[in-house]
Amino acid sequence: MLELRNLHKAFNGQTVLDGIDLQVQQGEIVVVLGPSGSGKSTMLRCINYLETPDKGTITISDQSVDAESAGKKEILALRRKTSFVFQNYALFKNKTALGNITEALTTVHGIPEQKARKKAMTILEDVGLADRHDAWPSALSGGQQQRVGIGRAMALDANLMLFDEPTSALDPEKVHEVLDLMKKLARQKRTMMVVTHEIPFAREVADRIIFIDGGKIVEMGTPEEILDNPQDPRTRDFLRQVL
Ligand code: ATP
Ligand code: MG
Repeated sequence: MLELRNLHKAFNGQTVLDGIDLQVQQGEIVVVLGPSGSGKSTMLRCINYLETPDKGTITISDQSVDAESAGKKEILALRRKTSFVFQNYALFKNKTALGNITEALTTVHGIPEQKARKKAMTILEDVGLADRHDAWPSALSGGQQQRVGIGRAMALDANLMLFDEPTSALDPEKVHEVLDLMKKLARQKRTMMVVTHEIPFAREVADRIIFIDGGKIVEMGTPEEILDNPQDPRTRDFLRQVL
C-alpha cells in the first residue's frame, strides 16, 4: 500500500534522507526508531509532501509520485491518502474540539456542515471526548488535545496514518490515554507509521520496527528481532540508551 523507492532529501547541502526503500502492507503498523537527527520526521514529512523530497518515488495505493517530475495534481492526490498526527497537536485554537474535526470533513472531503458535525460527533465519541465537544483547545489537557488531533486524522479517513512522536509533548501520566487510542486504531487495522520512543508500545503494537540512522534504514524486523536481538551495532547502541 505504501512504497518508498530511493527517497533522498538534503537541507542546505546536507543529506538527511540517503536512499530510503520501504514497503508497508495494508493494515500494517510500522514503528520508526532512531536517534535524534537521523531523519525520522523528514521521512514522514516527505511521505505526505510536508517536505518536498529531492529524489525518489512515493506510492500510496494507486497513486505514484516521482519527486523529479511531480505535478501539483498528483501531489495533492498523494497528500489526500495520508493523515498526519503532530507532536504538538496543531489544532486550530479558534475552533472547538468539535470544530477542529468538523473542519477536516468540510474542507477536505467537502461534506456539508450539518452532516460533518454529526460525523465529527461520532468521532469525538470514539476518542472519548463527546462530553468536551464544545471545549476550546486551551481548555483541554495535552492528552485530550492530542486525542482531538487523532480524531481529526481519523476524520480524513486516509489510507495511511502518519504519527510523529504523538506522545512526546505530554505529561507522563497522559501518555497512556493517547497510546490506548492508538492501540484501538491498530486493532481496527488502519495502516500506521509511528515515530515514537515508547518502546513498550512498539513491542506490543508494531508488526515491524525499522531503525534509521544517518538517513538510511539500518535494519528492520519484528519487535522481537529488533528489540531483543538487534544485529547492527548502531541499533544496539540506541537501544542501550532508551531501554
Ligand atoms: P528527532 O528525534 O530529534 O525528532 P529526527 O530523526 O526526526 O530527529 P529530522 O527532524 O528528520 O530528525 O532531522 C534530520 C536532520 O535534518 C537534522 O539535522 C535537522 O536539523 C535537519 N532538518 C530537518 N528539517 C529541516 C529544515 N526544515 N531545514 C533545515 N534542516 C532541517
Ligand atoms: Mg523528529
